[in-house]
Amino acid sequence: MVEPIQQPTPEFFSLACDALRKAGQLADHDAYDYMSRHIPVYVQWDADTAQKRAGGCPDCMYLGLWADKWDGVEVSTHGVIFCFEQGIRTEAERKGVPVEQQVKETILHEFGHALQFDHVLDAMEAEKAAAMAIPLASRRP
Ligand SMILES: [Zn+2]
Repeated sequence: MVEPIQQPTPEFFSLACDALRKAGQLADHDAYDYMSRHIPVYVQWDADTAQKRAGGCPDCMYLGLWADKWDGVEVSTHGVIFCFEQGIRTEAERKGVPVEQQVKETILHEFGHALQFDHVLDAMEAEKAAAMAIPLASRRP
């Protein structure tokens, strides 16, 4: 189920519907099929202030956002996904890929959050591990 809020273009809305369907058809991922049928996906032009704060970066441009619950929208036991047209179009242009592909990648990324994948935690762990590592060159014989 995809619902438009905050005025995405009709073209983008239709791309998001296609992308959600295709994301659910990835043969080797039953979890994505399940998510595509059960998690509400909302399409917006851009993330608002509250969404950016919830995502942890008030000044960033967002492509998507997963939240376990959100005031004013229907959520599922797996939360809710928002797709942001402005960020997705900007990223698609930067990478030179079709907007449709970037929508699908974004939805799959957000499904990952619903499945408890957390790239923010992963990045923090990697940073911490790097800080604790001793470069080989500085080791004494
Ligand atoms: Zn993410």
